[in-house]
Amino acid sequence: MSREIPYKIYLEESEMPKQWYNLRADMKNKPAPLLNPETLQPVTYEELSGIFCEELAKQELNETDTHIDIPEEIQKFYKMYRPAPLVRAYCLEEKLGTPAKIYYKFEGNNTSGSHKLNSAIAQAYYAKKQGLKGVTTETGAGQWGTALSMACSYFDLDCQVYMVKVSYEQKPFRREVMRTYGASVTPSPSETTNIGRQILKEHPGTNGSLGCAISEAVEKAVSTEGYRYVLGSVLNQVLLHQSIIGMETKIALDKYEIVPDVVIGCAGGGSNLGGLIAPFMGEKIRGERDYQIIAVEPASCPSMTRGTYAYDYCDTGRVCPLQKMYTLGSGFMPSPNHAGGLRYHGMSATLSQLYADGLMEARSVEQSAVFEAATQFARVEGILPAPESSHAIRVALDEALKCKETGEEKTIVFGLTGTGYFDMFAYEKFNDGKMTDYIPTDEEIAASCAKLPKVN
Ligand SMILES: *Cc1c(COP(=O)(O)O)cnc(C)c1O
Repeated sequence: MSREIPYKIYLEESEMPKQWYNLRADMKNKPAPLLNPETLQPVTYEELSGIFCEELAKQELNETDTHIDIPEEIQKFYKMYRPAPLVRAYCLEEKLGTPAKIYYKFEGNNTSGSHKLNSAIAQAYYAKKQGLKGVTTETGAGQWGTALSMACSYFDLDCQVYMVKVSYEQKPFRREVMRTYGASVTPSPSETTNIGRQILKEHPGTNGSLGCAISEAVEKAVSTEGYRYVLGSVLNQVLLHQSIIGMETKIALDKYEIVPDVVIGCAGGGSNLGGLIAPFMGEKIRGERDYQIIAVEPASCPSMTRGTYAYDYCDTGRVCPLQKMYTLGSGFMPSPNHAGGLRYHGMSATLSQLYADGLMEARSVEQSAVFEAATQFARVEGILPAPESSHAIRVALDEALKCKETGEEKTIVFGLTGTGYFDMFAYEKFNDGKMTDYIPTDEEIAASCAKLPKVN
């Protein structure tokens, strides 16, 4: 008999991971290499380090070291807001009347309101260590920009954020949090870059997109001395930093000899999911244990469930390296749904490869069903979840309700990536019964994918 399981499983400081886990090193089929957008040849360290910080460029290309030390300064910062609790959702289980055991890893316990601070602090640290003056980035919903502002202010670095215009207007408070931490925030597309001016000319009145904001931020970084570009998702380095989520989860579960059957996470660019599943997927790849792993994406931006596995640009302006991934095409403009953090046209190359190899599943869910799950969860578990996170809640509830029918006592673990206090317009729409969902047609997706670059 294992010990009685508390509502919250915390780790002692001494139990916290001192290394990140680099899942790629254990993958039999490695993700395809990033390509230089001009030569279409694999990018070199020299090329990458012109855009990214040196140490981060190394991490981006590292597919041999399974573990990478977390520098002491970053461990200290982590201790300020981590370990994140692993919560046993006893109250939710009871309300649902399910025999399933539900756990969630809650990453919303910091001002940025999400897991993004885990990578922001690492990226700011390496920028500082390299002696840079500052960094540029993009933000969609605003969580990444907030996290990076916090990290940069801690290390005294300048932080310039290009914020997707629709969010800039819809979420003035997020913008203000960033400014409070000392960042400068520009709505994208803007007149401050060549690519911004070009996009504005071609699409006057556009709401902007993540891909377009990325292009502006990269252009600004490479044209400003002492600056580099940093990115909050998709990249290998970000998945590496986010492995802290999965490692803490695994240590907490192991303490009580709990073995999950199903691990679920929402997927935008794939960083929280990649981080959460890393140690479990590692065991699966090494043949030590089997888990069902599920990525959840919005029906309005279904890169894994309906996209194409091919090389594509990571940004609208085509300045970033090309990546082989599940993609809807870099020109795909998702409808303005309310989960801003999930509106990216592509998916992490690592997760794409794992999905292509059949090591994980993907499901897409509709917005109103997501908010039903969010509300149900908020009313029982006391946390108002972010719309992004609520995609994972939806599928966790679906799985738990299946167990109610079959009587199976499955153990379900999902990632609760953040809180939704800045998403009250979305909740308002839902509460007023005015939430709609735009699901792209096959023709629209095909038209966008027809413009994929011809590589090979
Ligand atoms: C950014 C974000 C996501 C999606 O990003 P991933 O890189 O796919 O993890 C999910 N949830 C929250 C709360 C976010 O801020």
